[in-house]
Amino acid sequence: MWKYFLPTRVFSGTKTISHNNELFREIGTNAFIVTGRSSAIKSGALDDVQEVLDALDIPSTLFDEVEENPSFSTIEKGGKMLSNSACDFVLAIGGGSPLDAAKAISVVGKNGNCSCRDLFKGKDLPAFPIVTVPTTSGTGSEVTQYSILTDPEGSKKGFGMPSTFPRISFLDARYTVTMPVDVTISTALDALSHSIEGEAVNKGQNPLVKMLSKEATKIIKQSLREVLKNENDVSSRERIQFAATLAGIVIAHTGTTAVHAAGYPLSSFKGIKHGMANALMLIGIFERIAKTDPNRISGAIEPFTDLDELNAFLQEFGVGRVSLQLSEEEIEKWSDQTSKASHLKKTPGDFDKQFFVNLYKRIISD
Ligand code: NAP
Ligand code: ZN
Repeated sequence: MWKYFLPTRVFSGTKTISHNNELFREIGTNAFIVTGRSSAIKSGALDDVQEVLDALDIPSTLFDEVEENPSFSTIEKGGKMLSNSACDFVLAIGGGSPLDAAKAISVVGKNGNCSCRDLFKGKDLPAFPIVTVPTTSGTGSEVTQYSILTDPEGSKKGFGMPSTFPRISFLDARYTVTMPVDVTISTALDALSHSIEGEAVNKGQNPLVKMLSKEATKIIKQSLREVLKNENDVSSRERIQFAATLAGIVIAHTGTTAVHAAGYPLSSFKGIKHGMANALMLIGIFERIAKTDPNRISGAIEPFTDLDELNAFLQEFGVGRVSLQLSEEEIEKWSDQTSKASHLKKTPGDFDKQFFVNLYKRIISD
């Protein structure tokens, strides 16, 4: 028995925003645009969006303050601005951070007195319609209901509601060409991580998820090298963008595993990019799952033949070269938190606090 659900309409291709501009009229009359500090401009996406909105006489308000690993305070600031405005839809441009922030801002802005903490109470709240234009190829946020935020204590927390699935996502790979090389790598490794973590949860039960995962992993395995050889080549960027979206559809159905939970403190407290943080945790956690369920792991990483081949791929993209110092106190605290994370429910095998202590110690630089 399996089910598939994706309420997001996805439009992909060069100049897809201007080719499909009439869709904005169906979504709303006044846009609240959410971006990071510079990627929306550097990528050229904001100019293209603005041109289309101007041609349609759709006014807009710009909130361009989203930082990496967006904080509760940024969401609440954006939410207040949205609810005080006349805007009736949210248009997110950027990587996972602005896209996730836009989802949360959309809910907070729609629900008057709602605070960030209310997003995590398991209630389904309404949101303004959300449109996304991704400028990275990694998180899959363009096709997921998830929004990952950082609370005032520095912990990353995720929520998702039916209303936070984007209504429309426009994929134009030209916007991903300006990513710095470390962002290109870490976002592609994030997509790879989604693809194989999702299939580790799924274990073939949903055949469509299995198919999407295998295809996403294959494309990243084949194309990431090509992207780095010629960073301006839009067609190889398009392949990675496609893979990231497929992997996003996978996790929209499955969620992620302890790999994501264990990586979060590395991003919050050590500035390691999200995808790289996952990549650092992946092999150790997959080895542990394989101890009790080897078939689950060999199926999840297909078409990689074994964890050694997957590990060699990760090392090729710098995973072994991340320099990291962690104190005993940090290791204790993070291991305790990670061993209690909800992701553990989706991670078969024996994962206690000591496992994570050993895992974090394994990645400390000599
Ligand atoms: P990001 O945090 O959105 O962006 C990383 C950096 O890259 C920022 O400095 C950004 O600049 C820059 N950048 C992005 N696109 C660019 C472009 N085309 N040209 C030049 N610079 C560009 O990166 P991300 O990896 O896409 O998102 C990570 C976030 O997503 C994390 O918070 C993670 O937890 C979350 N996440 C969400 C999901 C989900 O399902 N929703 C899944 C996995 C991860 P600006 O600051 O100027 O934008
Ligand atoms: Zn991720």
